[in-house]
This record gives sequence, C-alpha cells and structure tokens, in this order.
Amino acid sequence: MEPNKVIIAGGGLVGSLAGCYFAKRGWTVEVYEKRPDPRAEANKGSRNHKSINLAISARGLSAVERLGPATYSKVKSITLPMYGRMIHDIDGKTLHGQAYSAKGEYINSIDRGLLNHLLLDQLDDHGKTARNNVKVVFDCILDTCDFKTKTARFRNQVTGEVIETKGDLIVGADGAYSVARRRLQSATRVNIELKYIDHLYCELEMKPKIRSDNSTDFAMQMDHLHIWPRGTFMLIALPNLDKSFTCTLFMPLATFESLKTPEDLSAFFRKYFPDALELFGGEETIAQEYFANPKGDLFYVKCSPHHYKGNGVIVGDAAHCTVPFYAQGMNCGFEDIETLDRLLVEQAKISQGKAAETGDDSDIKTHNLTPEQIEAALIKYSDCRPRDSASMIDLALHNYVEMRNNVNKLSYKLRFMIEKKLSLWFPSYVMPLYSMVSFSKLSYTEATRRWNAQTRAINRLVTVGTEISAICIAASLVCIVSALSRRGYAPFARLNGLRIPKLQEIFNLFRSQ
Ligand SMILES: Cc1cc2nc3c(=O)[nH]c(=O)nc-3n(C[C@H](O)[C@H](O)[C@H](O)COP(=O)(O)OP(=O)(O)OC[C@H]3O[C@@H](n4cnc5c(N)ncnc54)[C@H](O)[C@@H]3O)c2cc1C
Repeated sequence: MEPNKVIIAGGGLVGSLAGCYFAKRGWTVEVYEKRPDPRAEANKGSRNHKSINLAISARGLSAVERLGPATYSKVKSITLPMYGRMIHDIDGKTLHGQAYSAKGEYINSIDRGLLNHLLLDQLDDHGKTARNNVKVVFDCILDTCDFKTKTARFRNQVTGEVIETKGDLIVGADGAYSVARRRLQSATRVNIELKYIDHLYCELEMKPKIRSDNSTDFAMQMDHLHIWPRGTFMLIALPNLDKSFTCTLFMPLATFESLKTPEDLSAFFRKYFPDALELFGGEETIAQEYFANPKGDLFYVKCSPHHYKGNGVIVGDAAHCTVPFYAQGMNCGFEDIETLDRLLVEQAKISQGKAAETGDDSDIKTHNLTPEQIEAALIKYSDCRPRDSASMIDLALHNYVEMRNNVNKLSYKLRFMIEKKLSLWFPSYVMPLYSMVSFSKLSYTEATRRWNAQTRAINRLVTVGTEISAICIAASLVCIVSALSRRGYAPFARLNGLRIPKLQEIFNLFRSQ
C-alpha cells in the first residue's frame, strides 16, 4: 500500500517542522516554498521581512524535542538563554533586572534563519534515511489549491513551470498572507477576524563592542531581554550568537511618520533612549539603520475552523498570525504541529488496538491512516487550536501594554513579585501568567482562565490584607489616644470618656470606601 502523501505549502519555520514530523511518521512529503533555498550561499543573509531573531520557549522546544533528542540538542546549541527582562530607564543610567521566574526558568533567543536552515537540513536527512520520501521545492509559489479534491497548483517563479500535484492531505503553512487560508474559505465556512494595530516595527542592529585588544563582546548584559518601555512605544533587544543584539522599535505609525530626518531621529533617541544611542555607536549609525530598514505592519488573524474534512488544515501564521508581544507566534505554530502529530498518532494507535494515551510514540507510523481517521484527528484539532490560538493572540495584545507601559510601574512590580512568591509557596494554586505561557504547556485558554481566577483571588487577598492592616493601625491609634487621654495628657484630655468605636464599625467604614 502506497503511504499517504502530504503537500505542504510554505517551508518557513512551521512548514519545515511539519515536514519533519510527516517524514518521520512515514508519509511521502512534498514541501513547496516561495523563496529560494535560504541555505544556498547566494541567499544567506537575505531577509524575509520578519524578525531576525526570536524567543523560543517551552511549547516550541517541546515540539522540537518530540522530533528526537538529536534535533533537540542541535536546536538548543544555537540558543542563548534570557533569564529575565532588563529595564532601561529614561535617564539612560538606571537598569532594573526582572527575573522571569522564581525558579530560574528562562526563554531562549534563537536566530530565525539558523533555525529554518536546521529544520530544512533535518527534512533532507529524513528524506535520505527513509525511502527518499521527501521533496522540497524552492522558488515555488502556491497559486491555488482545492481542499475538496486535495489538489494544489504551484508555479516556479524562476522557470515559470506550473506544477499540479494531488495528495492525501494539504497543509497550509504559507504564513500570515496565506493563500491556503483563502482557499479553505472557498471549501467551507471559515470565520475570519483580521485586524491591523496602529503600531509598526523596525529592526536595528546593535553591533558587538570592540575591546582594546580587538576582541569583541556583547554591548549589554547578554542573558536578558532588554526593554526600554516608554508608554506608547518601546525598544527591545535580544542577543545573537555573534554577540550583536537585534533591537526592535515598536511605535505608533504617527510617531514613525514624525521622524523624517536624521536630526529628528537623533533628538528622539537622545530624549528617550540616551544609553541605546551610545550603544548603537552614535547618531550616524542609528540613522543609517533606521532609514534603510523596512517598517513592518503588525496585525492578527483569528479564524475557525482550521481544517476541511480529512483533506486539509492550515497551521502556524496561516491560521493565527499574531502581534509578537508574547513571543508566542512561532511557539504556538510549533505547538500546532505537535498537537496534529499527537492526534494522528492517537488514530494510528486506535487502529492498532492500542490505548491512545500509553507508551512511547516515537516509532509509531501514521502514513496508512484512512481519510476517515485523518478527519477524526482534524476534527479534534479544530476543536482546540482555533480557540487556543485566539487566546494566545489576546494575551499578546494585552502584553504589549504591559511591556511598553507597565513593567516599570510599582503596581506591576508588586503584583509580579506577589505572584512569584505565592507560586513558590502554593505551586498547585498560583503560577504567574508569564510562566503559564512561556514555561508550561497549559493551553493558552486554560492559562487565561486560571490567570483571571488567580488575579481575582490575589486582588481580594490584597484588599483584605489592606483592610486588616488599616484596621490594626486605626485600632492602635485609637488605643494610644484613649490611653493618653485617660492619663490626662493635655492634648487628648478632652477626649476622655469618649467611647472607642467598635472594630466592626471601623471595618465597615473601610469597606464602604
Ligand atoms: C517582529 C516579530 C517578532 C517575532 N518574535 C517572535 C518570538 O520571539 N517568538 C515567537 O514564537 N514568534 C515570534 N514572531 C512570530 C513568528 O515570526 C511567526 O509566528 C512564525 O514565523 C510563523 O511561522 P510560519 O512558518 O507559520 O510562517 P512564516 O515564518 O511566515 O513562513 C511562511 C513561509 O511560507 C512561504 N510562503 C508564503 N506564501 C507562500 C505561497 N503562496 N506559496 C509557497 N510558499 C509561501 C514564505 O516564504 C515563508 O517561508 C515574531 C514575529 C515578528 C513579526
């Protein structure tokens, strides 16, 4: 029996990971990627207008780990740990470190290009070790696909050749502007919400500093994610293996438009990011970078369902493009692929009469699943992923305000500190939101629900604590005053004989405020 064939549109981060999974499970894999091979010497360093580096955390790493220990250690070897935020004050001198976790957990900075190369190499290796069942075709753009007939048409952008192909499953991993998503809409009723936010981003490179002996070093502390929060806008920086930092300026469109000349930019940086200006190497360098680099749009897409019958599914940004403020877009896309794999494996186990949740999955093959079994997996997939990815997008929108406006406020620091402490004392009941999102695999929906519940509980605790403290202070004052007045201490003598209000009355007084 011929193994099932999957056609994957898009060989970016999520598409190449999906290819690795399907190849590992014995499928015949065809990946079509619009760009030229990014590993070819001539194309190295070419940008695809997305961030140069990103943060990979628990969900992304878990999906990589499930592929096998060798892939996992290769990926880990190109990461740099970031243990917390380093907040840069507007005075250009003061820095505050904020650990992400009370347990020393960290997120990882990783180069987008290197990760993509590594996954494409893995995909090639799977092709070699299996029965040559992997084909990756570059320069090929998805023109259209039909989810009803499981066919797709690609066009080679160099030769003009048109490739028509038919498979057992179509996977749309063609990113935020997905053609596959639009085609899914013509196969079935798909609810779509697409919204641009009023902010754009621009990347700026902070080169390594050169020491007196000509060796290089990071210009700032390398084990943190640096943030310059400035209310309506912010600058962030993530470290790279070559000791540079990739900095990203997130600002409203109007602010970008107001910076028309190098002089405007210098004045802006001197006012808001004085230390960064130094670290970038001065006004001229920053102006060259800023005016040459593209300003990227930020928008999100929520849609549901993500699949059509057992015929096709959209994954990654094609299904849930997000604003990048929780560093979860790729992590969520990788989680899509792990979830899809688990559901297909579950079907394979059921068909073999094995209990779905038991045993080591690593050698299970899914290439012989019937269309009905694939459909059963995809129905379960669309039961959870649209909802969870929508929750992830809401969390990211919320976190933008936290990052640019709140991280440096006392109220935020207090709440973060209380959550971290409580999570150490009552780990079964309290986990900071950041930990649920970045260091756990709780679904984004469940993380949001737990966070809302625990925020209500913590707020109540803080209110009751404040009330009790206020009552104690008031009661102590009343006792002191009445004692002094009874002893005839002149300023309070007139109060002698007054009844001390009952504690309950004071309590009620505070409650009514
Ligand atoms: C500034 C910024 C910072 C970010 N930081 C983080 C972070 O720290 N952590 C994180 O988890 N996420 C982050 N993200 C999100 C992350 O970049 C995306 O979620 C991730 O790239 C999605 O991967 P993907 O493979 O689904 O899509 P993409 O990376 O967009 O890949 C899609 C691929 O499909 C190809 N393609 C497109 N159209 C076609 C077509 N018609 N035919 C064939 N091929 C096609 C493209 O060339 C591309 O290679 C960030 C995003 C931005 C913009």
